[in-house]
Amino acid sequence: MEKKTECEIVQDLLIGYADDVLNPESKKLVEKHLSECEECRKKLEEIKKDTKDEENEKKQIDYLKKIRIKNRIKSILIAIGIVLILALILFLRKFIIINSLLNKSEKSLKSNNMYIEKAESSSNPGEASVYRTYYKDGKYKQTFDIYSENGVENIYAKYAEIDSDEQIYINEKEKSVTIYKGNLIGELNTEKSLKYVPFVQNRTLYLRLGMVFYYGINTSTFQIGREYYVLRNVLDKSARHEVWIDKENGLPLKEFQEDAIRTFFPGTEIVRNTANMDVNYKYSFDTVTDEDVAVPDFTGYTVENIDYNLENLEKN
Ligand SMILES: [Zn+2]
Repeated sequence: MEKKTECEIVQDLLIGYADDVLNPESKKLVEKHLSECEECRKKLEEIKKDTKDEENEKKQIDYLKKIRIKNRIKSILIAIGIVLILALILFLRKFIIINSLLNKSEKSLKSNNMYIEKAESSSNPGEASVYRTYYKDGKYKQTFDIYSENGVENIYAKYAEIDSDEQIYINEKEKSVTIYKGNLIGELNTEKSLKYVPFVQNRTLYLRLGMVFYYGINTSTFQIGREYYVLRNVLDKSARHEVWIDKENGLPLKEFQEDAIRTFFPGTEIVRNTANMDVNYKYSFDTVTDEDVAVPDFTGYTVENIDYNLENLEKN
């Protein structure tokens, strides 16, 4: 009976003994009892083993936690990598498309025989301005017509040669001719300004790279059966500005901007009318004849000569 009580006391003390936190007297008592009692020695070993297991388990949990954190970092890095690769692929795809369109447009605009039609919706509802350019081997004719409910009104037909300093405007309705001459006119008679279409001109590599950020690209098919890319301004979404580019020749088919044209009540900032900018282009190659670009006989027309020399203009 006495011995069993001592065993119980010692066993209560064993955890503290294993952790070495007992006071010296208790420690002595435990050690003395252990040297005599097999059962309590076994108990002590079990306690030591449990403590060890607990420590091992703790270590294992820490280890697993570390692995989990490492794995999480790894998957975050992989996700970032995938996003970067996708962005790079998207960037490259856009650059390849834009670059190839601009190269095609440059090639198309080099043609010695081309027709460009530009039809522009006007700020006057129900009206459209149509400019037609006929170009053949350095000579050109440009016509300007206004289309409305009343029919077609020809404003003028203009004739000139590239790099000459003369332009001949003919108004058939009034039977009148105006001849502009001078070095200022020469500035206007460049092939570049004649064949001007938006978006595709003068794009250096630097600008081409910039365009990749500026435009989102979709692909579609026009009513007239031509395949085209839609380049939409993504940096300034409020502008709702897009250019449709013909896949085959790299030239713009359409430029569109929502509510680009605004008119106001006179003397106020109150909007009277808004209209979309909607410019449509048509092209054909090797269809312009010598006759198209030849100055017609204007015998009997009233003729006015206007001097556009910079020096003479400065004198006045
Ligand atoms: Zn004992």
